[in-house]
Formats: sequence, C-alpha cells, structure tokens
Amino acid sequence: MDRKELGIYVHIPFCVRKCAYCDFLSFPSDDRTQRLYFQALNEEIASFPHAGEYEAVSVYFGGGTPSLPDPAQISKTMDQIRRTFVLQKDAEATIECNPGTLDQSRLEAYRAAGFNRLSIGLQSADNGLLRTLGRIHTFEMFREEFQAARDAGFGNINVDLMYGLPGQSVEAFEKTLGAVRSLAPEHISAYSLIIEEGTPFWERYHEDDLAKRRGEKPLFLPDEDAEDAMEQRLKQTLRKIGFYRYEISNYARPGRESRHNTGYWIRREYAGFGLGASGQIGKARYRNTSDLEAYLKNPGIREEETILTVRDEIAETMILGLRMTKGVDLVRFEEQFGIRAQDMFAEEIGQFVRSGLLEISGSFLRLTERGFDVSNLVMCSFVNDTEGQP
Ligand code: SF4
Repeated sequence: MDRKELGIYVHIPFCVRKCAYCDFLSFPSDDRTQRLYFQALNEEIASFPHAGEYEAVSVYFGGGTPSLPDPAQISKTMDQIRRTFVLQKDAEATIECNPGTLDQSRLEAYRAAGFNRLSIGLQSADNGLLRTLGRIHTFEMFREEFQAARDAGFGNINVDLMYGLPGQSVEAFEKTLGAVRSLAPEHISAYSLIIEEGTPFWERYHEDDLAKRRGEKPLFLPDEDAEDAMEQRLKQTLRKIGFYRYEISNYARPGRESRHNTGYWIRREYAGFGLGASGQIGKARYRNTSDLEAYLKNPGIREEETILTVRDEIAETMILGLRMTKGVDLVRFEEQFGIRAQDMFAEEIGQFVRSGLLEISGSFLRLTERGFDVSNLVMCSFVNDTEGQP
C-alpha cells in the first residue's frame, strides 16, 4: 500500500514566563501539570485513527518551550509517535529550544530520542533588547548552548531572529546578524515584530500609532524606513554567506530548508497533537481545545472542526505557494483541481506579470523580488477571486 505523506506537530505549552510580545498558547506550570500533560498527549497520539495510512516525513515539537520539561518525557512522547506512526527513514525531527533551558545532557537526550534538528529562539544578540522583550537569556547563554548543541552532534540548527524591535537601530540589528553569522547555523528564520492585542507591548504600540497620526516620530518602535533597512541588511548579509531565501521569512543553506514547514506551504497533510494544536487530515481541518483542564480530561477534544471547500483549497494553494520563492506548482495545481491556474486567474496573473510583481518560471508561478515587498496585495487578489467557486 502506498502510504500518504504526513507532518506531525506536537505542542508543548510550557514556558518559564511570558515574553512581553507573546500571544502563543504558553504559560508557566508545575511538575505535576507537566506529567499529566504528557500522559494526555501520549494518549492522544496513541488513539490517532488511520495512522497506518501515513508515513511521517517530519516531526516538530513546538511551543511554548519544548526544551523546558523533563527530557525523559519528550523521549517517551517520541517513542509513542514511533509506536503509532511509520516514520520515513530520513524523517526530519525538530525540537524548538529556548536559550536558558539547555545543557549538554539535555541535548544528548534529544539526540538519543531521535531529534536531528534544533530550532533555537535567539531573537537578538543585544542583551538590552532581550531584556525589553522579556526573554530569560542573554546572548552569551545562547552562544554557549549553541556550542553545546554542536558538541552533542546537532549538525542542523535553525536560529530565530526578530527585527523592528522597540528602540532597535539598524546598526544594532547588523550586530545581531554579525554575531549569528560567526556561529554559522544552517537555517535562519527572521520575523519583523508584530504587536498582538492583549500583550504588554500593545498599549505602547498604540501611543506610537497616535504619534504617527500627529505627524510625530514613533518612540516605541523603529519607523518604516528603519525596518525596511533592517530587512535589506538581512537579505544582503544572508545572501553573502551562502543562505538563500526560500520563503518570506525563512533562509537556508541549500538542502537545509525546513521539511516540516515546507509541508505547510505545499499543503501536505499534518496531524497536530497537544493543547491548541491544529491538524489537517484530508479535507478536515481541526484545532484542539486550548483549555488545559478540558484537554487533560479528554485529550484531543476539538475546539474547531471545518471541512475545507474546493474554494478554500484553491485560495490556500495560491497564498501558501506564493510564500515560497519557488512559487505555486502549476502542474500540481491542474492535477489537483482539474483546471489551469493560468486560466482560472488569467486576469490577475496577467496584470501582476505586466506590473513586474509575478513571473512564471518553468512550471511555477512566483513572486518577483519586488512582488515580495507587496506580497499581501498580490495574495489577497487570489482569495477574492475564488469567491463564487464551489
Ligand atoms: S518563549 Fe516563546 S512561547 Fe514562551 S513566552 Fe516567550 S515567545 Fe512565548
């Protein structure tokens, strides 16, 4: 039997404390809660229906801070995944880690559990900015733990960075890029700070907004020109040191792209386990409850379940595909939907190709360099124009 490809996501919602910008599903917890959580998580994985139809391409432990709980628990959950699913021989297995929670023995335990990739949240090499963000670590801690990861045998490491941070100058961001460059990771994810409602940063962000409306300079966040300059420095520096941008916010050395995240952009099926985790199996999209009590009582209880329409699937294929520099696979599109994207979206594609924001390269439709700067505008047109489809 041909097994279908699957990505597996496992959510670990525990953190030492909440960062000032964070709206992820994460919180501090005690040992007992963590033990009960892993018990529930393993039950949920064990009861996944139709597991035999799939072969897992990737496993991703995200959070929260998966490097916070006892590594023996992480290892047991990995064992449960192996008992339930067939994993591809070279499956990518990533665990997200935060500096300040790692040491040699923990990293060795992750290797022994079968992880072959780490994703470490550094965010900035500037200790002042790390304090502003409410992070629990310094740059020096990150550097030491990065080296420990190499010593433990991790040859595939992603570093997460953020820019457009409160009070951050272009020069400060350049220093972060220089510091990360000297460590030579295989992959870098870089996001501009988005201020989410309800976080401690939210109010100050609004003061900035009012200042801008009065024609004054924002005090909290860098202005748009500074943020653009940071993005340009990011692209230039990473290109110079052998990284290529393969997705809006992701850069890798060739062959080191994240297989798990790529699965989301090409719309591979994925199973999500744990509190608030999402999955998509066939046309069914679900999200688990984000109520911890409810989850512990009934692991895998859903908060939301939707059946995707063809219209949803077409819109997602276009939007997620255009996030990648490779673009939307037009052959696959036609195989899947029985119509050519070039015919369905003739007007939009024609218009954006003429204005230099989209291009067709081989059998892929992709954003140009200029198109990436206004990617939302281009992507939106493919959502609106699927209106009226089945
Ligand atoms: S470590 Fe990550 S998940 Fe945890 S509070 Fe900070 S940003 Fe949120």
